[in-house]
Amino acid sequence: MQEKGNISIHTENIFPIIKKFLYSDHEIFLRELVSNAVDASQKLKKLASLGEYNGELGDLKVKVEFDAEAKTITIKDNGLGMTADEIKKYINQIAFSGATEFVEKYIDKGDDKKIIGHFGLGFYSAFMVSEKVEIITLSYQNDAVPARWVCDGSTEFEITTAEKTERGTDIILHIAEDSVEFLDKWRLKGILDKYCKFLPIEIEFDGAILNKTQPLWTRQPSELKDEDYLEFYKELYPTSEDPLFWIHLNVDYPFNLTGILYFPKVKKDLELNRNKIQLYSRQVFITDEVKDVVPEFLMLLHGVLDSPDIPLNVSRSFLQADGNVKKINSHVTKKVADKLHELFKKDKAAFEDKWEHIGLFVKYGMLSDDKFYERAKDFCLLQNVEKEIYTIADYREKIKTLQTDKDGNLVMLYTHDAGKLDAFVQSAKKRSYDVLLFDSPIDNHFIGFLENKEEKTQIKRVDSDSIDKLIAKEEKTELILSEAEQTTLKEVYEKSINNTSYRVQIEALPVDEQPVTVVMPEFMRRMKDMGGMGGMSFMGSFPDTYNVIVNGNHEIAKKILAADDAKKEVLAKHCFDLGLLSQGLLTGPDLSSFLSRSVNLIS
Ligand code: ADP
Ligand code: MG
Repeated sequence: MQEKGNISIHTENIFPIIKKFLYSDHEIFLRELVSNAVDASQKLKKLASLGEYNGELGDLKVKVEFDAEAKTITIKDNGLGMTADEIKKYINQIAFSGATEFVEKYIDKGDDKKIIGHFGLGFYSAFMVSEKVEIITLSYQNDAVPARWVCDGSTEFEITTAEKTERGTDIILHIAEDSVEFLDKWRLKGILDKYCKFLPIEIEFDGAILNKTQPLWTRQPSELKDEDYLEFYKELYPTSEDPLFWIHLNVDYPFNLTGILYFPKVKKDLELNRNKIQLYSRQVFITDEVKDVVPEFLMLLHGVLDSPDIPLNVSRSFLQADGNVKKINSHVTKKVADKLHELFKKDKAAFEDKWEHIGLFVKYGMLSDDKFYERAKDFCLLQNVEKEIYTIADYREKIKTLQTDKDGNLVMLYTHDAGKLDAFVQSAKKRSYDVLLFDSPIDNHFIGFLENKEEKTQIKRVDSDSIDKLIAKEEKTELILSEAEQTTLKEVYEKSINNTSYRVQIEALPVDEQPVTVVMPEFMRRMKDMGGMGGMSFMGSFPDTYNVIVNGNHEIAKKILAADDAKKEVLAKHCFDLGLLSQGLLTGPDLSSFLSRSVNLIS
């Protein structure tokens, strides 16, 4: 038997396109051919289990071999094989149209070439590295005749009868001059390790089996122990610390998804992608760029996802709109929230211990996904400066008596750094107010978010106003000074400070409060913080403005008013410097002159 033919149906010649445009990912030819060989073996198993094949299955195995002298790479399987007619159908028509469709999609979305290059081109990806491809195959069917197909990269092919006595298929690649890099043991091993590590049929290369055919995620959770999960994690990320906990996903309706997601200890500097989630499709590694397959906040997690329902040979924008991807997204989000809730309910103390490492993740999730927020608001924790931990609801309950202002708003106070704002924290404590600690990089965003979500709630940094204004109450402290005295005192301060970035205001504070408090208003500071985080960068360049709150009831106010002109200014300046000092704002020459003035004042 000998037959020549022409593959081309409607496309002129796709091979130059395959070669030229998909070059960033040439190595995937091996993934495609090995997974075809695995498919062929699985299909035979299936036929046997259905009673449609009664011969020996034998030891189903895929072998990858290469010959540097002959410049060939061979992928052998003992799967179901093909007859000459099947080659015509599956290789000349189906595989070819698959490749054509792929290239056409690619040409439409020319800008996405790298991404598309990741995904399956099928059998014809062999031509990315070969000048000639041979198939020698013997079908499992009774009385099948072995067949040989050869194609040199043009659209012409040739089919002849072959010599082959064992069932299965050999794909022989005659490697092109520009691809000889692949005729190397380490290169091939590297590619096989990357894509084929968890394939369900044994892959033999260089005398050794290199895959685990039953990776953990394909097994039943009930038969697995913690050690198994930890060991698998180490296998995926050899240099990483143990994860905190994990979720074993196992869905088969309405879409197919398995996988294991691990919660790492999330560091404050948000190392987003250091250990990436790996995406598989039926145990074939596809990519670790899962950006559009899972919501961004879930990318803080590690592990594997395996789904044949994720369309792989499409561009990203299409992926985002895909129904299955959306369902997978919301399913994974729900599972993650459920797991956290379960841990929280089961052992609150343990959950609190872990909060340090998962708090950032939970907040990030709440900010970016409303469904996640709905679930997480019950187990999202707040920590105060005493390191006590509360749920949001419990915390509201704790502070509501003392920290509700005259308009019925619940006011939560916080500091970003207990040490630096100690003076302010102390004045809050004098009122028996509680102060929260919000010290992670995400908190700037989280605070604003929480304020919006929680009804009648304000969240203010302890140093953003005088304590009595932070939580304004009905009963007011009276100001001892007359109108005239207030005006004079204000002028004295303005003159001695002599800087328009500081706005002086005289206020009635309790006698035991500081004589002068320097604050940056909450709104102003928040905008600045956002600017610093790249949010609204124009605010970052605004000059800082502060409010200088002078306590008109402090005895030093009277003293300043009574002093002679020169002394007035010295005292006012000194009180102002004390205010700066407790904010950590007194530095440089100002600090030096404060020190020498202090010495003068006490001697
Ligand atoms: P896909 O794997 O998505 O079907 P491919 O282009 O990779 O597309 O392969 C096309 C077809 O060629 C396969 O569906 C299969 O029928 C056939 N085929 C490819 N490789 C083999 C093989 N090693 N053994 C048997 N059939 C094969
Ligand atoms: Mg294939």
